[in-house]
Amino acid sequence: MNYIQEMDPEVGAGILAEYERQQNNIELIASENILSTASMVAMGTVLTNKYAEGYSGKRYYGGCQEIDKVETLAIERAKKLFGAEYANVQPHSGAQANMAVTMAVCKAGDTIMGMSLDAGGHLTHGSPVNFSGLFYNIVPYGISDEGFLDYDEVLAIAKKHKPKMIIAGASAYPRIIDFKKFREIADEVGAVLFVDMAHIAGLVAAGVHPSPIPYADIVTSTTHKTLRGPRGGLILSSAAAAEKYHLNKSIFPGIQGGPLEHVIAAKAVCFGEALKPEYKTYQEQVAKNAKVLADEMMKRGFKLVSSGTDNHLMLVDLTNFEGISGKDFQILCDKVHITLNKNSIPREPRSPFETSGVRIGTPAITTRGFKEEDMAVIADCLYKVVTNFEGTQEEVISKVLALTKKYPIYEG
Ligand code: PLP
Repeated sequence: MNYIQEMDPEVGAGILAEYERQQNNIELIASENILSTASMVAMGTVLTNKYAEGYSGKRYYGGCQEIDKVETLAIERAKKLFGAEYANVQPHSGAQANMAVTMAVCKAGDTIMGMSLDAGGHLTHGSPVNFSGLFYNIVPYGISDEGFLDYDEVLAIAKKHKPKMIIAGASAYPRIIDFKKFREIADEVGAVLFVDMAHIAGLVAAGVHPSPIPYADIVTSTTHKTLRGPRGGLILSSAAAAEKYHLNKSIFPGIQGGPLEHVIAAKAVCFGEALKPEYKTYQEQVAKNAKVLADEMMKRGFKLVSSGTDNHLMLVDLTNFEGISGKDFQILCDKVHITLNKNSIPREPRSPFETSGVRIGTPAITTRGFKEEDMAVIADCLYKVVTNFEGTQEEVISKVLALTKKYPIYEG
């Protein structure tokens, strides 16, 4: 960091300011995490200089012998970690992994079922403003009034619309997803089952959430959420499905050019870390912290969608705190060094820019070392912000800073 400050003070100042923001904030955005130093260092290496279109042993450029070894290492580690026969580590992001899979399985105009955005699905699962909604016939499914997936309803919709592909997975669903049930539904209507496990991949790797690998035809993930790797995407499947759907071809040359080999090296480091025993302890702590935080919040009068959580996140329904939207709460939290994001709730009465809820997750704070006893402090701070911001702002800031000081990031 000192080097970049010397070489380019303007950019260096921006990076330093962001580092300090992260250091002094409690990060509760459920899709964020704090990358290990080893993975971070791998990204800032000479691998970024190399063009390597194609795949190991079959590249369109010379000089790829070392790159081939690194990419193969990433693939083999990913396969071992998730128990999959095939892995593609080249997707630049989760959205690109999803686009490649969708294009591999479906033709433009085909019918696809995905969880709607307001129920907790992702843009790439069929939002009208995304490629998925623009090029395919999307039939959304939602969740019950209590906030749970209703598998009978998913089956009824599938029987009615006979989709080519069903997408299971979400960005804001706090409960276990029953992949076996999704498999049965897909089989009943002859659909391909595609699971996007971006949010829960770290929990899956550690056995804290059931794995979709035995049930799905194809699985995608991001590598930067609970998984705790660099920003990027991943595709997994059986060898037969990879061949049947030409998954490699769908990424390159289908939708991408040269792979980001420096990021692939960082993914390899992340998968290596995830194969170690301490990773399981970390993921168990992520889930424990989420459960305790959910309980502490409910004790103080916060309403949670589905009244709790089974994973790393929870959805807070703010409608019982009169006049405060998700956006208002996000802005107030920012002022006391707590970072979270506004989120729609089921049957959302406000626009997606305002929302009536926020999403909260524990992956990043758990990486810093936060434990169960710290969850009550966070719940208390959130309650003070929502009920008496003006009167408690200074007190909350000092409590937050005491915690961020206790658990520093990138120490030394
Ligand atoms: N899939 C799910 C379930 C997500 O939550 C996200 C990101 O939030 C993505 C895919 C897209 O990932 P990326 O931002 O890397 O494109």
